[in-house]
Amino acid sequence: MLDEYFRNGKLFLSEVSEEQDIPITEDFIHRHFRDPVKELVGESNVGDKTSEKEMLRALRKYFEISGKSINIGKIVEASFSKTRDGYCSYCGKESAVFSNRAYVFPFERKIDSIAPEEARQQFCLQCGFTLFSGMAYLYKRGDIMFFFDSVRPEYIKKMSIPFKEDLRDPSNFNKLKKLSIQTFHSYETIFVIMFEFVKHLYRKKLVKDYEGIVNNVRLILVAGSGQIFHQIYIEGTTLDRISQLCIKLIEGSVENWKKREEEKKEKLKIFPEDLIFLGFFNNLTINRGKLSENCREREEFTKMLLDGRVDFITLNNIVMERLKRKEKFSIPLYYRSFIQTYMEVFDLDKEIFEKVNGLGYALGKQMKGTNLENFVWDVFRARGVEQFYSTLVELQAKLKTSIDLRTLNEYEQGWREAKAILLNGMLNALYGGR
Ligand SMILES: [Zn+2]
Repeated sequence: MLDEYFRNGKLFLSEVSEEQDIPITEDFIHRHFRDPVKELVGESNVGDKTSEKEMLRALRKYFEISGKSINIGKIVEASFSKTRDGYCSYCGKESAVFSNRAYVFPFERKIDSIAPEEARQQFCLQCGFTLFSGMAYLYKRGDIMFFFDSVRPEYIKKMSIPFKEDLRDPSNFNKLKKLSIQTFHSYETIFVIMFEFVKHLYRKKLVKDYEGIVNNVRLILVAGSGQIFHQIYIEGTTLDRISQLCIKLIEGSVENWKKREEEKKEKLKIFPEDLIFLGFFNNLTINRGKLSENCREREEFTKMLLDGRVDFITLNNIVMERLKRKEKFSIPLYYRSFIQTYMEVFDLDKEIFEKVNGLGYALGKQMKGTNLENFVWDVFRARGVEQFYSTLVELQAKLKTSIDLRTLNEYEQGWREAKAILLNGMLNALYGGR
């Protein structure tokens, strides 16, 4: 991850000094060490008149810094000047090197920091200060930190504009603003952040402007605290598809909103753009009283979404659990639109999904209002493929109807997934809102 972070630092330095590959001397460091910090936490937090102590406090909001230090200038300069002879962990050249610090390259594995000083990463002044400058394009929300990478630095810059202009909160050391959905885990958080990013582009009419850019950057996310951390790389092709998904959902929401206005339905206390995304994503949690626990299954589901797949089984488990707990909208709002749009954008076989979902929906419609509604639990509990089919046969007999079960046989991803889709379709007919 050094390469990617290094490119961010290089980009910032080229902006500060207005030239490429400027030689970094102790004097240069002395004159410029404040610049990346200011960019990270914002001018309003660290202006020119800010005391060193306040600046350090700002930096502490992002990195672990020894409690004894009271002066940012002193600690930065001290760590950069406390050199010994060795090989730079980045460029490999033999030179005067200093040990890595959290504010230089923050993603050295924590486990390594227990290792003796000499076993840690070490950098020459040139590489070290470039890495230190990488913080200029680093973003933080809760326990996650992320940044963008691209072989074309102008794209990193372009991706950062919405974050710097609109998505950060200047009153909170420029950390990301509160998201429209409360999240806990890394995948769900980054998914919602991407949604906010696309919403910003949509509002500023910049969607076209970013075509061809998003698929040429990758997002690197580091999550966790203490000794455990993990890294997630999201490639441009995925980012691009997620963006397309978000745009379609936003456009659909705005259209839907207009209709609601015309039909004079009750006013909602959300933004029009959020209608479908919030309706779906916000109803994937299970209220267990603790955010990390509430969001557990949604995290699993989102992880798959970022991998190009719909995890129907987890989705069905969420719905059934919500139903059991009598949560409002046990089947998430806009379930079908969300899944359909996702499958379109990610080039998945929508047709077979439609068939199985439609089958479930048709059954659900017939069950609605009868004493057979609880039959969904019999289907859900079916433990083998034979039991699954015999339950359906029994249900048909009770409904005095007959459905074509061949569609289920055609479903290649296996009967468990077919069952999950069928059930979701049923539940949508029984309990679906919109
Ligand atoms: Zn070096």
